[in-house]
This record gives sequence, C-alpha cells and structure tokens, in this order.
Amino acid sequence: MENLIEIQGLCKHYKDFTLDHIDLTVPEGQIVGLIGENGAGKTTTLKALLGVIRPDGGTIRLLGGDPGDPAIRSQVGVVFEDSYFYGGLCARQIGRIMSGIHPTWDGTLFRDYCRRFELEENKPVKDFSRGMRMKMSLATALAHRPKLLVMDEATSGLDPVVRGEMLDLFLEFIQDEGHAILMSSHITADLERIADQIAYIHKGKLLFQQDKDLLLEDMAILRCSASEIDSLPKNLVVARRGGAYGSAALVRHPQNVRRLLPGAVLDRADIDEIMQFISGGDRQ
Ligand code: ATP
Repeated sequence: MENLIEIQGLCKHYKDFTLDHIDLTVPEGQIVGLIGENGAGKTTTLKALLGVIRPDGGTIRLLGGDPGDPAIRSQVGVVFEDSYFYGGLCARQIGRIMSGIHPTWDGTLFRDYCRRFELEENKPVKDFSRGMRMKMSLATALAHRPKLLVMDEATSGLDPVVRGEMLDLFLEFIQDEGHAILMSSHITADLERIADQIAYIHKGKLLFQQDKDLLLEDMAILRCSASEIDSLPKNLVVARRGGAYGSAALVRHPQNVRRLLPGAVLDRADIDEIMQFISGGDRQ
C-alpha cells in the first residue's frame, strides 16, 4: 500500500508554540482523522503539508512527490473551515474559474454536486449559509477529481443531516482504493464512524497514530478506588483522574486489567473520553 502523505519530523516554531517533530502517514484507501485540543497544531500541520506555511524542519512527501509541484497539488482537494472564495462569486463563476486552473476539472460533476447539495448556481457565495459554503468548498474540491482530500474541520457547524450526507460522500470517495483522506475534526463521533486511523496531536506533539478499531478495543475506562489503580502495573495505566465520586483511569489492555482486578468496572472508552483523560487527567 502506497502512502499518499508522508510527513517526517515536521517542525514549525511560532513565538508561543512549537510543532514538534510530527510524523504522520496517510496510506491510500484510508481515512486518517486528526484530533487534538484547540491550539494543538492540527491546522499548522495541514498548512505545512499544503505549502501554505513554510516548515522549519522535517520532510513532506505528497503523492510520492514534492508538495510544491503544481502537478502534485492539482491532485489534492482541499477543504478548510474558512471558504477561500471571493464572496461576490456564484457557483457558475467559480466553476468557470476552476476550469481554467485545474486541467482535470469536471464541470458536469461540479454541477451535479451543486444540484445534490442544493446550491443555487447564481447566488453569490457571500449570501450562502456557513453549511452551504462548506458544501461549495467540498463540491469544488471534488470536481477536479483529486486522489487525496485534505480537510480542516470540514463538518463543523453543519447540521446532523448535512453532516451525515458529507460523511457518506467521504466514504463514497474512499471506495476508490487509490484515494485517501486526511481530515481534522473536533466531532470525534464523525471520525469514529468513518476513520480508519486516528492521529492525536497534543500541544504540538504527535501522541499516537493508530488504527481506530484497535485503539478503541485496546483502551477502556476503569472505575475503582485510587489504591486499586495504584496496584496496577504502570504500563497499563495511560492517565488517571481522582474526583469526589471516586477514581478513574484510562487503561490499555482491558483484558489484563480485568484479570488483575476482577471486580472493577471497565467501560468502553470513546475518542472524546480518551482525549479528555490524556489532556485533562494525570498522564502516567
Ligand atoms: P483549533 O482546533 O483551535 O483549530 P489547531 O490544533 O488547529 O486548533 P493551530 O491553528 O495549528 O491549532 O494553532 C497552533 C498554535 O499555533 C496556536 O497556539 C496558534 O496560536 C499558533 N499559531 C498559528 N498560526 C500562527 C501564526 N501565524 N503566528 C503565531 N502563532 C500562530
């Protein structure tokens, strides 16, 4: 399986923030979900990947080549939270401009998406709602038939019905084994539904990139006394929290924990809870 994105040791320094040696890969046929708290470095990573900002270190391979190569860039569909379009333009004009920029632009496909998303062709983008602007970005990103979609918070602010439609579209896109998606999202339920892998950036560092199903199978929330958590081998406890209502820990290898503490309560951990424990709990 070929990697459509290969990031190694990516660094970017700002006055109050450092993106610290990020390694990230996106294999073809897969959806990789990028998660992390506000200000963790997700957008910075995506901007560096797309050449919007210049990295201070590391290497980036996009579709096996240089991200600065226009032939490579034209195979990447990009959807960022803020629409790139000049607000006075309507879908019809955007289609005309894009057909001059992208050699692979498919005007019929673009019109199909506009129809499917119920976007009026003659209405200026500035008069669109936020959800409509996101749909327009996605229609534009897909209509030049990219191999790779890179999306930053593409489903934020969309109502559940539209979000569901978008997720279906992403799954449709990934049916082609040669395609791949890298998407950041705070809506972890979306990623639980469609992502193959989860990459977690925390305070500028990549904590892990892991197969989603394995991650969710391998993590659990243990609710018991603090002394019972203390009794576990350190390698089983990822993070812990103490509170007025008892202690809890995010643990790995729940079957081993169950053997050691047969009476303890072990609950399935979802991605939100994993993040809450790691960012807010006492990491071990
Ligand atoms: P969010 O989930 O809130 O969108 P994020 O994970 O995408 O967050 P980034 O936008 O990558 O986070 O920002 C990471 C850090 O880099 C933040 O502290 C931000 O203030 C800082 N930062 C981003 N761009 C610049 C810039 N041009 N100059 C200085 N600092 C910046």
